[in-house]
Amino acid sequence: MKCIFCRQDSTNSVSVEHIVPNSFGNNIAILRKGIVCDKCNNYFARKVEQPFLESETVRVLRQELELENKRGKLIKDYTYPRVGKEYVKQISTDKFFVYTKEDLSEDEIAEKVAEYQKYTAETDKVLLEQNIHTSRLLAKMALEYFVYRCNSTDEVCEYVGADQVFEDIRNYARYGSRKIWTYSARRIYSRCEAYQGDPFSAVNWEADILFLGNGEVYFIIVMFGIEYAICINHPMVDGYKDWLEKNKGISPLYTSIERIKDSYNEYAKTIYSKAELNELKQLFATKGERK
Ligand SMILES: [Zn+2]
Repeated sequence: MKCIFCRQDSTNSVSVEHIVPNSFGNNIAILRKGIVCDKCNNYFARKVEQPFLESETVRVLRQELELENKRGKLIKDYTYPRVGKEYVKQISTDKFFVYTKEDLSEDEIAEKVAEYQKYTAETDKVLLEQNIHTSRLLAKMALEYFVYRCNSTDEVCEYVGADQVFEDIRNYARYGSRKIWTYSARRIYSRCEAYQGDPFSAVNWEADILFLGNGEVYFIIVMFGIEYAICINHPMVDGYKDWLEKNKGISPLYTSIERIKDSYNEYAKTIYSKAELNELKQLFATKGERK
């Protein structure tokens, strides 16, 4: 077995690969050991995931979403929003969480919410700008999620690890570049909406692959209400912007089944058979290059 990123023999690899970092609340989207070799797995953890997860803005978000790290620990060293035994969570009328030491009046909560909104506007600025760490993490997740979505068979791994179509994004994720692989970033719902008033059912992230009829393939992930989209074929997002315009700006993750059938073409599904994989290869081979 060969690693999909470095092509080295990965038969003896022992680590499974978390597509979305484990410390970002992912226990579902995992690739079996060997698809990504231990060396690449380790490299990604240190050089791609870490800089993203440990950036100040994301640390605050991880604290706010109460995400545990690999050792089951919460981040507690930030003071805002406050989490801890002595603080009480209160939910305002528009579903914002407010952390206080004692019960507050409606007016006082409104004041805290205004303060919180100002603070989230500032962090959003950082989360929405083009950033090399976010971009490389998206590139890594895109390829891995593609494999996952195509049922992680040996054939799919061989295809993704060896085909020319994936070469640029493979190298970008694994070896980096001075130039950022452009991605699309926009807020589609507020941070607190993810909780729906219930932190235990909070949605930290949701992802899927979007196959466009023109042969472009996008990885879409929503984290803390921000939708990120990255193209697997090339470092441009024009095709996605066009798609959004045609679809009234609705995220592909939340379009109805009818709409999915209509706009994704037939490839918006898990690839189970050889024939389906061949069809997919054909799609890339004939239309993958954007003129
Ligand atoms: Zn490797």
